[in-house]
Amino acid sequence: MTGKALPIIIAGNWKMHHGVKATAEYFQKLNRLLSAQKALGRALSEGSVQLIFFPPAIDLYTAYIKTKAMPVATGAQNIHWESKGAYTGEISVPMVKETGGGYALVGHSERRLIFGETIEMTAQKLEACFKGDVTPVLCIGETDNERSAGQTEAILSRQFDGAFGDISLEEQTRLHIAYEPVWAIGTGNTATPEDAECACRFIRERLTRRFGSRVSRKARILYGGSVKPGNAHELLSQKNIDGVLVGGASLDPESFLQIAGAALPRHPG
Ligand code: PEP
Repeated sequence: MTGKALPIIIAGNWKMHHGVKATAEYFQKLNRLLSAQKALGRALSEGSVQLIFFPPAIDLYTAYIKTKAMPVATGAQNIHWESKGAYTGEISVPMVKETGGGYALVGHSERRLIFGETIEMTAQKLEACFKGDVTPVLCIGETDNERSAGQTEAILSRQFDGAFGDISLEEQTRLHIAYEPVWAIGTGNTATPEDAECACRFIRERLTRRFGSRVSRKARILYGGSVKPGNAHELLSQKNIDGVLVGGASLDPESFLQIAGAALPRHPG
């Protein structure tokens, strides 16, 4: 690969936490903390580490205003596949872009398991992101039962194939995939670095087979599931783990930046 090294991604999914006021306070605090962390600040400005925040949709504009002068990105936790229409309660890709958002989570297990999002919907959302020039973070991962039955790779394959349908990707297409084992989300049971690496390598290989090595090398593959300051470094040290998607530990700017700091040794500023 020529040119600039690809960034390590540290993404925070706030889920249904923090309203507008708390969002404004969060980014004020983040700004203060960042100005005291020179190495991380440099890595963010140079693009070797990238922070992406996924606040609730109602906070996106506030997040945009508060982070305009900061080297961080924002995105939506969920989008609809149509750009507008009679879809009460939904937001679209163009709406996310209008708030300065450049990313969207697609197929998060909470969307699939609590709100009944099907693989067909995930596929439509993924396609809407590609068409609308918003980078999707496609979330895939097995449940505890599936893992105990030794079905992890079969489930990842099924979710991968279902989400991509007959989509074809260009070399320049921006794509992130998060391996998020459902049993690790919000439970404190993080996958071992070896197991997480194994699943992320499997995803990389599937990307190569389906879209070629240039797309697969460029795609960022993240691990998500109970990532904390204490385990981030080991996870991020794995060859095929290009970043982390963080839920609970992203809610406090201090712990989120500690996780981001764990990305630095791979990219000394
Ligand atoms: C998530 O919801 O994507 C997630 C990884 O949550 P947590 O870090 O809290 O396990």
